[in-house]
Amino acid sequence: MLAARQVHAQKIAQREVWFEYLLAAVGALLLTTGVFAGLALRRSLERQARVEEELRRAATTDDLTGLANRFELLRSLDRMIASADRTGRPLSLAILDIDRFKRVNDTWGHPAGDEVIRHVAEMAMHVVRNQDLVGRLGGEEFVIAFPDCDIDAAFRVCERLREAIATLPVILPGGIALQITLSSGVASWNGGDRTTLIARADEALYEAKGQGRDRVVSDFDALMS
Ligand code: GH3
Ligand code: MG
Ligand code: MG
Repeated sequence: MLAARQVHAQKIAQREVWFEYLLAAVGALLLTTGVFAGLALRRSLERQARVEEELRRAATTDDLTGLANRFELLRSLDRMIASADRTGRPLSLAILDIDRFKRVNDTWGHPAGDEVIRHVAEMAMHVVRNQDLVGRLGGEEFVIAFPDCDIDAAFRVCERLREAIATLPVILPGGIALQITLSSGVASWNGGDRTTLIARADEALYEAKGQGRDRVVSDFDALMS
């Protein structure tokens, strides 16, 4: 009888050990599944963040030059105007337009024209400060916004850029060196919205074209002439 009870107790003890093994195995399985699910979730979130970043970049960047596109440019300009209004610090704006650009396209072809646009974009990025914003307004027209910068300082930067463009030819893929020039109109914010500011810089640009191109004109000079 005692022996029978001992055998029975051993069987129960063995069953409990098996049950513990089973519980441990289920626990390990759940843990592994949890770890894999966590890793998969992390990878999926990273992929989503990459896609979102790519979409944001595509929506705000100009394909040809990598500069801010028109949408981003105008949005940033509104922000800069609000900041200048709040702080009383100056804000200047330049519109740049490649001279006789149609001729480049007509003579050397559209890809050469694209190369010229990229060249001007690169040179513009070289002359500006970190806080300045260079964007492509469309076609062969660019804008530089100069926060914390009065019209004289903005004028000097545009003049440096004009000189660099006129001095350094664009080298086309075939090795042909193209000499191009750039005209710019500069204006400073003095109240009003971005449309008024852009219109004033545009009038100065128009004056620069009228005076023979390859020059920088400020809206003040444009008014005086
Ligand atoms: P101006 O000195 O008065 O500025 O003369 P322009 O020839 O530069 O000006 P116009 O506005 O007559 O010509 C601009 C040309 O730019 C016309 C258009 O075909 C070309 N264009 C616009 N966008 C692009 C582009 O993305 N790539 C190239 N290659 N050409 C473009
Ligand atoms: Mg133009
Ligand atoms: Mg032009």
